Amino acid sequence: MVRRRTILAAAAACLPLLLQGCGRTADTPVEPAARHAGWIDADRLDAIDSEPGAWLTGGRDQQQSYYSPLDQINRENVARLGFAWQYEIGSEHGFEATPIVVDGVMYTSGAGGAVYAVDAATGAERWKFEPQLDPGFMRKACCGIVNRGVAVWRGRVYVGTLDGYLYALNATDGTVAWKVDTFTDRERGYTITSAPQIAKDVVVIGNAGAEFDARGYVTAYDLETGEQRWRFFTVPGDPKLGFEHRELKKAAATWDPQSLWQVGLGGTVWDAMAYDPELDLLYLGTGNAAPYPRKLRSPAGGDNLYLASIIALKPKNGRMVWYYQTTPAENWDYTATQKMILADLEIDGKQRKVIMQAPKNGFFYVLDRRDGKLISAEPYVPVNWASHVDRRTGRPVETGQGEYFDSPKLVFPSPAGGHNWQPMAFNPRTGLVYIPVIEAGSFWLMPDEPFQYQKGALNSTGIYIFPMRGEWGLDGAAARKLPPIDELTRGQPDTTLRGFVRAWNPVTQKVAWEVDVSGQWAGELFATWNGGGLMTTAGGLVFQGRGTGEFVALDADTGRQLHSVDVGTSMMAAPMTYTVNGVQYVAIMAGLGGAAGQEHVPGTAAYRYGNMGRIVALRLDGGPVPHPPELQHAAIAFPQPPVARRGTPAELDRGAELYVRHCTQCHSNMDGRSSGIPDLRRMTAETHAAFADVVLGGARAARGMGSFSGVLSAVEAEAVHSYLIELAWKTFEAGAASGQFHQPAADGTPAGLPPP
Ligand code: CA
Repeated sequence: MVRRRTILAAAAACLPLLLQGCGRTADTPVEPAARHAGWIDADRLDAIDSEPGAWLTGGRDQQQSYYSPLDQINRENVARLGFAWQYEIGSEHGFEATPIVVDGVMYTSGAGGAVYAVDAATGAERWKFEPQLDPGFMRKACCGIVNRGVAVWRGRVYVGTLDGYLYALNATDGTVAWKVDTFTDRERGYTITSAPQIAKDVVVIGNAGAEFDARGYVTAYDLETGEQRWRFFTVPGDPKLGFEHRELKKAAATWDPQSLWQVGLGGTVWDAMAYDPELDLLYLGTGNAAPYPRKLRSPAGGDNLYLASIIALKPKNGRMVWYYQTTPAENWDYTATQKMILADLEIDGKQRKVIMQAPKNGFFYVLDRRDGKLISAEPYVPVNWASHVDRRTGRPVETGQGEYFDSPKLVFPSPAGGHNWQPMAFNPRTGLVYIPVIEAGSFWLMPDEPFQYQKGALNSTGIYIFPMRGEWGLDGAAARKLPPIDELTRGQPDTTLRGFVRAWNPVTQKVAWEVDVSGQWAGELFATWNGGGLMTTAGGLVFQGRGTGEFVALDADTGRQLHSVDVGTSMMAAPMTYTVNGVQYVAIMAGLGGAAGQEHVPGTAAYRYGNMGRIVALRLDGGPVPHPPELQHAAIAFPQPPVARRGTPAELDRGAELYVRHCTQCHSNMDGRSSGIPDLRRMTAETHAAFADVVLGGARAARGMGSFSGVLSAVEAEAVHSYLIELAWKTFEAGAASGQFHQPAADGTPAGLPPP
């Protein structure tokens, strides 16, 4: 069986090469090295069923199913799954990509758009590509300097970098074939964290930045030359300036003519795309609005197209064929950028070509992918902003509970979404979609100060607060403006923050089974991030990497945990599986960071071992996974700040406000936990002296701290500095002790990490 598969795989791989002298017959096993590296094309993708051992796109196939037909590893033997190899990247940043494996070579991406090509049987490096990033873009990464994968096509590896470049690399050696700047305005808050999508003759890339001042768009480039073919904006610009394409005229009618055009308005395509060759349609998921509150953004109302929508385009010219807006007048960071899966389902006795998505807004959508018509939409998590989605109109029916413009409200789901970027998976054998689910609500309110647009800075404006203790929750400064919590929560869903793996039947729109993955963090933000992306197989399995460092295999029919491998590194990416020489491997990019995942919370592998970024591959009978050296933790008293207090009360208030707006997305300064990002209450005398150089001059850009010149004035930077000094003294006076991790020194004595 295995041998037959190998031959079929070879035959499929050879087809496109016949004209170029592939020269082997289908019954001769072909050594991977004999083929052109990274050779994936339309014929090969169409014939993917004939090579079950391949994983050719982010989600393995054109349907983006995250399903593999391999069954060598199955329910009966998965308990024998253990270590095969690892490839150490060593990055402190998070990993969110799922690798591609073609002809025995694995291609994947890491921090900022670095690319790694390794032997898929051994982990031996073939080549790596680690571009120098423009440091000015680091502070614009809302949720970590991450990248969600590469596209491999006809001997090239395509990747987008944080600073906006799309690269075509030669799959043989990683050399640059071409590079283009994909940004329309490098002063705005654009970044790229998503994978490129191949659609017929073009490679398409989107971007992120809707919390800043991005105006969403995707651009298509010629695969061979990098020449721009078309660009599709997802939201209009100021109508007074005219429209780049006709779809925007239609969209502009759904915006107040007095909308905050200068802010960009969001709608960024920061994650999912898919291409359907049968219908020749490219699907995009668009993001949230900038700024969040609709009454501020478009005071006269309107649906604000094409925010939070799924859009189908013709890849030839970028013309829109249909759109479906999941959240009209988006108001809560409810992106529809989540992964989309294409499938053929029997619904009410009819075969339907569907596209499925579980966007942040809490409803699971099944649409007809030929025309975008709604088939069904049901809540897969607690939802209170809308009562339901009307099947006739295709629109959600709002309850009013989501309107926080005039008074604070508790809204479900939270801005983290019922489901975020972590891939869901569809198993055609069980008929179930497995979703890494977040159950959370959050309190929303408006800030006191009037909105003031700042180019290239955070402009999201609406404030959200999680129902938990700590800086992001009820102990933060903003929470003091909330009415009594029991008033806000009365009659609303349970506010305990939790994470689940939920098996969802897309035909009946009901839960088949669920597993609570909250663990010890139930009620804390980390509970919602413990469960990473999912992958499922014909072996009857669902695989998931977790923040705890456990890599688990669940029974796809029941959710029962069949096996757990202690990886020793926190994980959030989706795993994948493939064969080389007849051996099935399961691989995952292990590494935490990004969004709330950057916190090294007690109980995570990141807390115990640090964030040792690597690719880990498993196989049957492999034995234990090697762990990084364990870190030593000690509760240490907060040191006396090395500089005296300063600043007037007004300056300190201003500093606090600026700090929350511009700094806390990275520097959360939490007690009792550590992260790779410095706690600024612990600045040394040296750092205090260099504060302006670091914040405005970019002196530590190489460490990921980009310059804020143009965002903060010298006076404002000084206000932030004064506020941090005040915070340090207050913490010191409270006698706080906080857990810091210590790398054991060579002589065995614990030594602290270098202070900020
Ligand atoms: Ca967002």
